[in-house]
Amino acid sequence: MSMFDKILIANRGEIACRIMQTAQQNGVICVAVYSDADQNALHVRMADEAHHIGGAAAADSYLKADVILEVAKRTGAQAIHPGYGFLSENAAFSRACEAAGIKFIGPSADAIDAMGLKDKAKDIMHKAGVPVVPGYQGAGQEPKMLSSEAEKIGFPVLIKAVAGGGGKGMRLVEKAADFAEMLRSCQREAKASFGNDHVLIEKYIQKPRHIEVQVFGDMHGNAVHLFERDCSLQRRHQKVVEEAPAPSLPPKVQQALGDAAVKAVKALGYENAGTIEFIMDSKTYEFFFMEMNTRLQVEHPVTEMITGQNLVRWQLEIAAGYPIPLSQDEIKINGHAFEVRLYAEDPATMFLPQTGIVHLFEGTSQMRLDTGIEAGDAISIHYDPMVAKIITHGKDRADAARLMQNALAQTKLAGLKTNQEFLRNIFDHKSFLDEDIDTGFIERHFKDLVPETYGIADKKAHSLMCLYKACAVQNEMKSVWNQNDNWRGVGAFSRSIEYVHNAQNYVFDVCKQGDDYVIEGENVKANVQHSSLSVNEIKAVIDGDCVTASVFNDAQKNVVWLLIDGQSLVFETPDYDALATSASGYGLIIAPMPGKIIDVLTKAGDSVKKDQPLIVMEAMKMEMTIRADHDGVVEQLPVAVNDQVQDGALLVAITKSE
Ligand code: ADP
Repeated sequence: MSMFDKILIANRGEIACRIMQTAQQNGVICVAVYSDADQNALHVRMADEAHHIGGAAAADSYLKADVILEVAKRTGAQAIHPGYGFLSENAAFSRACEAAGIKFIGPSADAIDAMGLKDKAKDIMHKAGVPVVPGYQGAGQEPKMLSSEAEKIGFPVLIKAVAGGGGKGMRLVEKAADFAEMLRSCQREAKASFGNDHVLIEKYIQKPRHIEVQVFGDMHGNAVHLFERDCSLQRRHQKVVEEAPAPSLPPKVQQALGDAAVKAVKALGYENAGTIEFIMDSKTYEFFFMEMNTRLQVEHPVTEMITGQNLVRWQLEIAAGYPIPLSQDEIKINGHAFEVRLYAEDPATMFLPQTGIVHLFEGTSQMRLDTGIEAGDAISIHYDPMVAKIITHGKDRADAARLMQNALAQTKLAGLKTNQEFLRNIFDHKSFLDEDIDTGFIERHFKDLVPETYGIADKKAHSLMCLYKACAVQNEMKSVWNQNDNWRGVGAFSRSIEYVHNAQNYVFDVCKQGDDYVIEGENVKANVQHSSLSVNEIKAVIDGDCVTASVFNDAQKNVVWLLIDGQSLVFETPDYDALATSASGYGLIIAPMPGKIIDVLTKAGDSVKKDQPLIVMEAMKMEMTIRADHDGVVEQLPVAVNDQVQDGALLVAITKSE
């Protein structure tokens, strides 16, 4: 037995980088694979060697099992680490690796198969004596019969695609009348995403917590758990904040969770890393098996922080044939850890994913930053919009939360809208700090987490922006920009500054009086003094308060990003043509992002009402419904089902009704 000399990493982004870092530290040579979209990606730059495997779409590259296996053989890689997503839970791929004499760093194909479908997995766990959520998971799929099963279980119920994952293919049904439509929509998504439209029906547990247990098994029959993680903070059934250990669990319950998880691992004869997900009643602490993920999870870092173990190192050792490095008694919890997922998405528009270039991206030394992105890299439509994971580890929960608050205030990212401010609001929220959490937390507190002012500049931000623009005008973007305080020497100045922020036009009068600037307009009046300004930083005293912000000027797009207190604000130069169009009486509905049209629910000549669904499109792994923005008549509808549309493409033109 000995550690691998060379492995292939069949993944991209942060997880490919994370795996490579550990492998390389342990003297293992790393082969990366990449798509057209990732030629210069960080995981390619980090690798010892990198091989191109196909087009940007995952189906043309990271999901091409045969091509990847070919690269592994050609480069002499002894093992393949699949990361998470892509081929990580693909039993056929695991089998093909085995047949080619290449070790799949993960469980056996049989174990993946057994846990791959939610209905089958529930059966196996039930037999192993692990509690499962009550529901219907039979073979019959007739809508009427499913509907009567739902009645029997009692509403609300969840419809789940048996092949589902990542929060996809799941519908909450509150009442019988909605069942048929939800079933259709769930089946459509399941068919499109997983090629399998079978569903199961489950009792919807009210106010539940999502608690999962990290487990490991080895080929010598050993099985251990590394305690639990609480991943209750979710939006659209996707995790946003994770922590370990789970807060306020009675020690007995914690023990029972670990025992149930180890029982499951033993029943399966499971090898390598896995996660057993449970849903827990937040009042009674009763828990039920939901599913098992047969791979490394996105949120594994919080477990690493509290146990002091490197789980990727464990994975490599176990795949190489070594026993699990520690016995159950030797695995101890030290402190508390949080992870947040920094997504390129806009919480103010239903968490709509964003694409573009990350122009500036900096963390701080107090956080662990797991990312596959550096300044200059793109978030494209082809992959998950996660930019990074920020992880903090403290003496206890309050301490880890304090560190996260600092981390979120100090992380700087410009170029795209992200959920950074939203995450910050979570860590400032009293209920969150008081451990009053369940999977409904984000929805319940949405107004606190995404207030009306979300992503909108306040007086400070407008003052700084006016200053920035005023100085830009005075200096006409000369190279003196690189020097601090350059604007101070300039003489008297007075003019109006205009920009667009959050789809609104702003006009301010900026007047220089001695060394101070007076900024007036839009209900803002501020006196700005004693400042320094460079191309990427502004410092000023605004009405007596010291303020520092980072700036990024995206000259190509004519926009300026201002980063202030963990807020990332964008200001555009007014586009007078666009303003004229929107005033013309037409409602031009454009694609918010590139994607594919999957349903068209109206036609030219139809009268439509405000908020009526018009088009369903799929973009960035998500289905979204495009609705009418006012009452009127559909004048133009230039798209059809299966069309691929670009960001900003016209979808529907609606004239105003008489
Ligand atoms: P996926 O495989 O898509 O991640 P899961 O089955 O793991 O789907 O469920 C994802 C999330 O959905 C859970 O974390 C939980 O918040 C919610 N959920 C799943 N099953 C139930 C249930 N029976 N009752 C209430 N919420 C549930």
